[in-house]
Amino acid sequence: MTGGPAGDAVIRLSSAAYTYRGPPPVAALKPTSMVIYRGEHVAITGPSGSGKSTLLNLLGLLDKPTQGTIEIDGIDVGAASERERAAVRAHRIGFVFQSFHLLAYRTSVENVMLAQVYADEPRRRRRAAAMAALAEVGLDHRAHALPTALSGGERQRVAIARALVNRPAMLMCDEPTGNLDTATTLELTELLESLHRGGTTLVIITHNPTVAARAQRQIAIRDGALTEISPVTLPAPAGPPETPPAPGVPTTPPPPAGAPEPPSGTGAPGPVQPLPERQPPTPPEGPPPADRGPRGLDALGFPDE
Ligand code: ADP
Ligand code: MG
Repeated sequence: MTGGPAGDAVIRLSSAAYTYRGPPPVAALKPTSMVIYRGEHVAITGPSGSGKSTLLNLLGLLDKPTQGTIEIDGIDVGAASERERAAVRAHRIGFVFQSFHLLAYRTSVENVMLAQVYADEPRRRRRAAAMAALAEVGLDHRAHALPTALSGGERQRVAIARALVNRPAMLMCDEPTGNLDTATTLELTELLESLHRGGTTLVIITHNPTVAARAQRQIAIRDGALTEISPVTLPAPAGPPETPPAPGVPTTPPPPAGAPEPPSGTGAPGPVQPLPERQPPTPPEGPPPADRGPRGLDALGFPDE
């Protein structure tokens, strides 16, 4: 395992790219090399259609790179079978999507229990674990409510409880506050951050610059190409500005602090994307780019109902 300045590398993309087959083919993520370190809190930002969800779906093993490799804990999971990747997802990765993806005719606790389909636990134990997860997100008192009786923020809390019930090491969040108002966005962000403080590696796609600014590291993406715009947090004096890559493994080095790395074409300067001040409750750019939740849920192994 490669020790990094912020801990061990937990996910490593090496020249990983993703092209949707089409037709026509869409090269949504160009060859990308990057590392997520254990215990990090990383924000992924970029305009609509830039490839954020595609990247997150690779990091979360919902998709395999069509080129290059992805390793988790040094194991090449891109080459693994769907079944093996599903097992890794179920035990190690929690997902939170913009539109919650709760089953409408299931209560909060039942929705959370759905994430435990892989757990070899008796139903009673699963219920207890689901109740504990709901308590952790402050929603145990709504355990028997249907999603239609919950506010947006409460629904997302249920989804977060579902994401964390299997005690995943990583949480992958695709615009988790995209449908929420300002106050709820802050509450949910604080909840995710408390999970991060508890040791969870947190990767969060967001359009909200305030949410992004709270991450330890921001990664910007534009036209499928990645620009790592803030360096890995270094505990020691800055020293050499670059993260030493593992021998033979190309790693996107963090640029020296403040160094602009203009993405192709549009030349966004400086460390922060020119994002809208505030993410309104409704997506600003027409229909949201599919966060592909339903497909994601299939891949997560949730039963069709
Ligand atoms: P973002 O999450 O940043 O909005 P996506 O990763 O969803 O962007 O999409 C990146 C690009 O890939 C976009 O051009 C989008 O239209 C395209 N894309 C996304 N999903 C599919 C798909 N299932 N088939 C073909 N193209 C897709
Ligand atoms: Mg998206």
